[in-house]
Amino acid sequence: MPVTDIFETRAAFSFEVFPPKTDAGMDKLCGAGGVLEQLYTLHPDYISCTYGAGGTNVGKNLEVLKKIQKDGCCTPVTHFTCVGNTKEGMRSQLQTYLDNGIDHVLALRGDLPFGWTGTGGDLHYATELVKFIRREFGDRFTIAVAGSPEGHIACRSLEADIAFLKQKQDNGADYIMTQLCWDMDQFRRWLDAIRAAGIWMPVDVGIMPVLDMAATINMALSRNGCVMPRELSRMISRHWVFPNPFDKEPFDAAAEEKKAAFKEEGIAYTIRQIDEYRACGIDGIHLYALNKYEDVARIAREAGLLDEI
Ligand code: FAD
Repeated sequence: MPVTDIFETRAAFSFEVFPPKTDAGMDKLCGAGGVLEQLYTLHPDYISCTYGAGGTNVGKNLEVLKKIQKDGCCTPVTHFTCVGNTKEGMRSQLQTYLDNGIDHVLALRGDLPFGWTGTGGDLHYATELVKFIRREFGDRFTIAVAGSPEGHIACRSLEADIAFLKQKQDNGADYIMTQLCWDMDQFRRWLDAIRAAGIWMPVDVGIMPVLDMAATINMALSRNGCVMPRELSRMISRHWVFPNPFDKEPFDAAAEEKKAAFKEEGIAYTIRQIDEYRACGIDGIHLYALNKYEDVARIAREAGLLDEI
């Protein structure tokens, strides 16, 4: 069933995984009793799989999605980007997804590899990719697009970013998957602003669980320029691992206890954030599962997401 049909009746609930680089990682994710099979037990509506810059992991991305499709427990959604892709290459990759029964795509510009200034491909923006997919494949794909509640890091203004989001809708996109955003006031302002701009697409909110201090800082600042609310900043300060959370061999004797305490508070923080999002009337919660089961299962359960289904 197209994910868009679910939004018509209730809020959706989904996970995001990434294609592991190693065979051992693939086995852990896709093997018998692996993370995907564990995630199915929570009955998500869909599981999406990321797509590496320049299609570097396209083989593994397809392998993960084929397994989800074959298992038949939920809808597979592939991420797809313009980075390093020619039109001919995109046509052929998208046809391969369809040939394998994968007909949901998150159409993105893509993260630019370090040092690149453009996509290095035939298309430059997600707006163009949405148009291309509709022109080449008609209605065969359900198309999701990214939305950035704080404005994309490179946008010239939030207004311009919203105008491009409207263009994605006009070009045929079906729903929005959001970039992580911890600033709830900003999220509410953005939601009002996109509706005022005539964007009616359902909004599926991307939630990055707060589990690890270094990963949380990294996700916020390496690419996305996200605002960290005072509560989250204070949590990080309270449990700071010295010399810093990125150091692989910290001299902090209490490092392990601090990490565990941070994770526990982070789970509670993530659950409260999901509550706030749901109170905004959003159309779905998309949890970045980070190829793990236990913590996201606990978050989904304690947040009451499993009752959605
Ligand atoms: P666009 O919408 O094209 O916007 C990029 C920038 O250009 C913005 O600043 C925008 O304001 C501006 N812009 C847009 N259209 C135009 C136009 N027509 N003219 C001028 N300026 C314009 N990246 C990956 O590489 N792989 C993944 O699997 C992946 N998964 C993601 C999943 C989610 C849920 C999200 C939210 C992001 C994901 N990303 C992924 C990251 C994404 O590729 C980056 O955020 C990227 O920098 C922008 O992608 P976009 O589709 O938002 O770009």
